[in-house]
Amino acid sequence: MNHTTLTFHGGLRTIGGTIISLQYGDSRIIFDFGLVYSPQNHIFDGQIKLRKSSVVRDYLKLGLIPSIDGVYSKEDLPDHSTLISADTYPGNTAILISHLHLDHMGAMGMIDPSVPVYMTEDSLSLYQTLDEIGEGVQRNRSYQSCKYNQPFTVGEISITPIQVDHDVLGACAFHIQTPDGAILYTGDLRMHGAHPERIQSFIQKANEIGFDAVIMEGTTLSSEEELAEETLVSNKALPEDLVTETMIPSKMAEVLKATNGIGIFNIYHRNIDRIRGILQAGVESGRKVVLEAETAQIALNHLGAQNFLVFQSEEIRQAPVPKWQTRLFNKVSTISYKQINQHPDQYFVQNSYDRSLELFDLNVENGIYLHSNGVPLGSFDPAFQNLERVLQLIGLERVLIGTGGHAIPQHLKYIVDELDPATLIPLHSFYPERLKPKNGVQLLPQYGKTYLLSEGKITEQ
Ligand SMILES: [Zn+2]
Ligand SMILES: [Zn+2]
Repeated sequence: MNHTTLTFHGGLRTIGGTIISLQYGDSRIIFDFGLVYSPQNHIFDGQIKLRKSSVVRDYLKLGLIPSIDGVYSKEDLPDHSTLISADTYPGNTAILISHLHLDHMGAMGMIDPSVPVYMTEDSLSLYQTLDEIGEGVQRNRSYQSCKYNQPFTVGEISITPIQVDHDVLGACAFHIQTPDGAILYTGDLRMHGAHPERIQSFIQKANEIGFDAVIMEGTTLSSEEELAEETLVSNKALPEDLVTETMIPSKMAEVLKATNGIGIFNIYHRNIDRIRGILQAGVESGRKVVLEAETAQIALNHLGAQNFLVFQSEEIRQAPVPKWQTRLFNKVSTISYKQINQHPDQYFVQNSYDRSLELFDLNVENGIYLHSNGVPLGSFDPAFQNLERVLQLIGLERVLIGTGGHAIPQHLKYIVDELDPATLIPLHSFYPERLKPKNGVQLLPQYGKTYLLSEGKITEQ
């Protein structure tokens, strides 16, 4: 007789890298296929070179991608590997990607092309832009799209994507139904974004369809010393000191209006709401927004916006221009540092960390650097000291105006209580045990074990 099993390959006590297999008979789905986010102990330190010809083998050896049968191509696996390659695997497998953050999709290019990889239409359209501007994942393959609220099947498993709000376009949760029961996987989500109504309708929709267990992210949970038990109570209100996505434009405009020199910003451009916010801050402060070409392409494709200029550095001017940039430059005007330096107080200019040296060309006297969730994200990243060093060298003050993509602890608890699952599986967290269900049981899975879903209960096999 067939039964439903769950195996956890990654993400239990890390931020991201969540990889879970769910199997019913010969039907199997694996959800999310990213890489753990850990810049402080990443093997690729900028010196060790990636070997493009053997990236799957190297990543397997390094433990960066999971050893799972039926996922990788025969020619990618090491000789004498005990793993079954995709072409000889008997079952029906599909991969689901909840959203386009590297910790959820960074390794999806390494999957054998015969295994379908699904993401929402919004995610796929953003991915196509990312690929165009050179930010696609390692290796090339095709991807399948799915629609919010429209179930699709992988063998005998039915999957319904449900839209959530997160700091990237296209994020969704997955409702996964097998003949034995249903699991709800939240992906990453937040209630202080630009679309809190999506979380309310996600809760409503999920409760309508019904489920036996919830697999939920818990990124913002911290230790008992840092986060007292009594603060971990359900509360959907927005604390007064919490910056929401929608507050960012006016907060930035306020600082920009009080600044006599240039305004610089550093964002993560997969967050389309933040790009919109930057353009809004430009309008509110009366400054022209200058975007890097890559972000400009995203703004054009996904916001239809054109109220910005594109920064054309000497470096770009002298390098061969890729086709997409030629097309972009035909649509929007470019601006050089020399033009900006004539009136630095009239501009709000993007500068990503990898382009830090471009700041040397700009007149930054009396200017301000608005750090708005662009990398490096914090002092845990060795690159953070580097950024500080560059800014110190040119005497540019850094101000933090941003907000995270993950629900704060009392919102996590609110979502859990509203869903009220019989089994709660918290993960994608350093302290998953701190997220407790209202009435059900908490399950903290372990690697190397298989869990059985039967009659609405999950037990260790
Ligand atoms: Zn994540
Ligand atoms: Zn995420």
